[in-house]
Amino acid sequence: MKQSPELRAIQENMQTGSLAAYGFLGMDTRSLADILRDDDERVASLVLTHGAIADRLQYFYEAGQEKLGRAEKVDTQYDVLVEEHKGGIPCPFRDNFTAAKAVITVTDRRSGRTLVWSALNIHMIRAHGFYEGRGAKFRVEPEAVAELLF
Ligand SMILES: [Zn+2]
Repeated sequence: MKQSPELRAIQENMQTGSLAAYGFLGMDTRSLADILRDDDERVASLVLTHGAIADRLQYFYEAGQEKLGRAEKVDTQYDVLVEEHKGGIPCPFRDNFTAAKAVITVTDRRSGRTLVWSALNIHMIRAHGFYEGRGAKFRVEPEAVAELLF
């Protein structure tokens, strides 16, 4: 799909300069427009919204913040670990948003499965519907969120 000059500039912003190190697009060779549209469709097919997913990710982030750096049991079935580092990461969509450098790890005790995301993921999902590209270190799979956290 052809993408707007705005999205093209954002995609370039993700792939160059200081933001390139975060590898937002992973191994993905699709345009940003295609990545966004595909995840829009996947989230819709799960009968979820970006806002509902972001709310759920934020819920575990806040629950785990009470015991920073140590695993916290949340809602009896989840182990939540929040690790925070100094500094922030600017949103690559160039909206002057800077996220805390926080990584949230949630393990579902029933299945033993683990999900990992960053504070920036929560913002990018809520504000931009962006889950990162395939193969990205912090790619969030909407299906995995639906299966483990809802
Ligand atoms: Zn943003």
